[in-house]
Amino acid sequence: MTGTEIQVDGTSVAVPEGASLLAAVRAAGSDLPALCSDDRLSPAGSCRTCLVRAAGQTVAACVTPAAPGVHVETATDDLRQLRREAVEVIASALPPRALADGNPGELAEACRSMGIGPDTAQGAGGRGGDDSHPYVHLDRDLCIACGRCVRMCAEVQGTFALTLVGRGADTVVAPGTGGPWAESDCVACGGCVDTCPTGALTEPGPARGLTSAHRPPATRTTCGYCGVGCALDVVTAGGEITTVLPARDGPVNQGHACVKGRFAHGYITSPERLTRPLLRRDGRLEPVSWDEALGHVARGLRAAVAAGGPESVAAISSARATNEENYLVQKFMRAVIGTNNVDNCSRLCHSPSAAGLTASFGLSGGTDSFDDVERSDCLLVVGANPVEAHPVVGARLLRRVLHGAELVVADPRAVGLAAHADVHLRPRPGTNVALFHGLAHVLLAEGLTDEAFLRERATGLPELTELLADYPPDRVADITGVPAADLIAAARLYGGARSPAIVYGLGVTEHLHGTDGVRTLANLAILRGAVGTDRGHGVNPLRGQNNVQGASDMGALPDLLPGYGKVTDPAARARAEAVWGVPVPERPGLRIPDMFAAARAGRLRALWVIGEDVCATDPDANKVAEALRACPLVVCSELFLSETARRADVVLPVASWLEKDGTFVNFDRRFQRVRPAVPPPGEARSDFDVVHAVASAMDADLGCPTPAAALVECGRVAPLFAGLSHNRLDREGAVPWPCRDPGRPGEAKLHRDRFATADGRAHLAAAPYLPPGEHPDDDYPLILVTGRRWAHYNSGSMTRRGANLALDPVDLLDLHPGDAHRYAVRDGEPVTVESRHGRARLIARVGEQTAPGQVFCSFHFPTSGVNRLTSHHADTVTSCPEYKVTAVRVVVT
Ligand code: SF4
Repeated sequence: MTGTEIQVDGTSVAVPEGASLLAAVRAAGSDLPALCSDDRLSPAGSCRTCLVRAAGQTVAACVTPAAPGVHVETATDDLRQLRREAVEVIASALPPRALADGNPGELAEACRSMGIGPDTAQGAGGRGGDDSHPYVHLDRDLCIACGRCVRMCAEVQGTFALTLVGRGADTVVAPGTGGPWAESDCVACGGCVDTCPTGALTEPGPARGLTSAHRPPATRTTCGYCGVGCALDVVTAGGEITTVLPARDGPVNQGHACVKGRFAHGYITSPERLTRPLLRRDGRLEPVSWDEALGHVARGLRAAVAAGGPESVAAISSARATNEENYLVQKFMRAVIGTNNVDNCSRLCHSPSAAGLTASFGLSGGTDSFDDVERSDCLLVVGANPVEAHPVVGARLLRRVLHGAELVVADPRAVGLAAHADVHLRPRPGTNVALFHGLAHVLLAEGLTDEAFLRERATGLPELTELLADYPPDRVADITGVPAADLIAAARLYGGARSPAIVYGLGVTEHLHGTDGVRTLANLAILRGAVGTDRGHGVNPLRGQNNVQGASDMGALPDLLPGYGKVTDPAARARAEAVWGVPVPERPGLRIPDMFAAARAGRLRALWVIGEDVCATDPDANKVAEALRACPLVVCSELFLSETARRADVVLPVASWLEKDGTFVNFDRRFQRVRPAVPPPGEARSDFDVVHAVASAMDADLGCPTPAAALVECGRVAPLFAGLSHNRLDREGAVPWPCRDPGRPGEAKLHRDRFATADGRAHLAAAPYLPPGEHPDDDYPLILVTGRRWAHYNSGSMTRRGANLALDPVDLLDLHPGDAHRYAVRDGEPVTVESRHGRARLIARVGEQTAPGQVFCSFHFPTSGVNRLTSHHADTVTSCPEYKVTAVRVVVT
């Protein structure tokens, strides 16, 4: 970006091209009141509190561009007086409490700095408020109609839930739907509260009045909910959280957050938190000391190894835990127990991404930074609902579309972004591979490919070309249900764009042929030359859990060591052995579903489940419970007595993400710091400490006594991470991997010169379409798709223990009006959903978001039993469950 140089009160200052005079004044070290301005928003110029003189004219600095060479005056008496009068006029219409001592709002601060006393505020008030929402309270008397909240909701969040109503001095913010705030379209991102300059919109409780512009000292950390990786500032008082604010300089969130990261921290102080270890005696879990619990675990692990060898022990590590904790868990299993039986829940979500992207490009991470994706002129969003599941990314994608990017959405449901799509493709669940082949067919047929790229940087074109002959649009329409014209239109948009990008989610991976889905989706970017070049922004998975990328990066996988060295590769093992000082087993370990099968077969004698409620989130839940019953020792590290913890022999109370130290890796491969804002409750310990303690109880020393030391040690095992350290992240904020050198930046964009495959080329996949594991029939005529809803997260153990439950209180089954009519289901009534594997109880919600013949529900309420419905079918390459296709029937009960 080229700069613009101007003079501010005689001082020369350079600002980016297009910057406003207000930005220039601030860059010069001066400040002005600017009550309708927020640098995250388009300028309004309505409050006239930032008046300056430029080129002889008196202008509002926030809406006036900084023209090269212009001379700006801010400090003359007449300008000060004009600004003071503007602020006084605004303040005088408000009731006295607007300027009360201690009010931290921008207006009150502006008045204090200008010597405008509290007695200026003489408004009568009496307009009332709205206390209906758990996270956003409105005091109409303090509203100055600056419109910042309305613009925040529209421009940053993209929800358009707010408007200004009334005339003249009576103008006030209101939900666009009318009625109470709680019944509006508000998704509680907190952006309106954060920008309000007067305290008209506030977060209830001790945080009332705090905004991102006026915040007390806070702990900077990274959100522990989804994989977006929002930087958050946690404000505390007396060891308790006062509020959580989005970091203005957060590399991904840029001053934004969602209802989970921003508000859903009530679970921290829930009386249901586990505070002492529990040990099963006579069938009951009883509180015991840590020594007793650890002794029991150590004896149980030793006994299991003695009876069945190291292969009879397994651990499920956690995509919620830090990198350092995952590193330590896999090191414990490999170096102390002597097995590769360690896996993490990426097995259940993005293991096909890891396998597919590695096969296509040689590395398992998304190919581009999200900042690059956001520069794309055509977004292909596939099998993802980021507006609800990754809200900050959803908002950024929507912003890009509202600023002119074309959008193709491929998803069976009318997900949030679909309303803004140029083309919405709605394939039948389980037919992705055919859909992607259909798009590729059109790219080839219409010459929308990059021939030079294919010649120089890719392999597999002849085989793919031959296969694609079988996927003309009409045939693909028959398989997928997507009209041929829509398919062609979508391919032309993607193929004709200057720099297209693909973003995808679990709707691509959680299938019987999920890895084929990833690979055939990647084909599109390869055909188009839109990966590893400046002619596009690649293929980018939206990771579900906060650290699902990092858990795999750290080697909590049965076949891969930290940094993705194969356990079967002697060189990779030798690197780890040199650091750990013990042999590393070379036989790949058990995947999660295989662990359960081994337990049911009597071959697994000890299972340690860390931070995963496998009984609630894994498919075919009845079989999971059977496995836990069959396993002689089940250890569970948890925050709450989850469905899994209830079935464990030992339950270890652990710290949450707000209580621990380490790092996470977000969906676009950025390492970011996690810092403890509050202490864990009672005797709860971090997973890092617990793994060390279990190792000690087995007379083993894992080394790396601190998380910082663990990351450094991981870098010695894994060259991909050799340049990373806590110190560096403390200085730089976020660093993407690969990062091989402490003195060089990480690689935000992958594969620029060559792909990481053995031959350095991208590999096109000629995988034929194969049908899903289940199909609708007369007995089970509907297809169930599961996914997330905006207010909740995974099994809901955190989001249900707080006010998010009021926002989304029941587990709903979405179904189309035609199906509701056919099966005599009325909106709002309880229904039983039955599959070949189990049954669940839900509340029907009738609407057109779901296509005919399909139903949708979340898995946020374990008591509903949704994962008793899902089948044992799993991706043929990675064993990722086929959550997206289960044949069911709906019965009114
Ligand atoms: Fe946290 Fe994801 Fe929400 Fe950001 S978008 S605040 S990372 S849950």
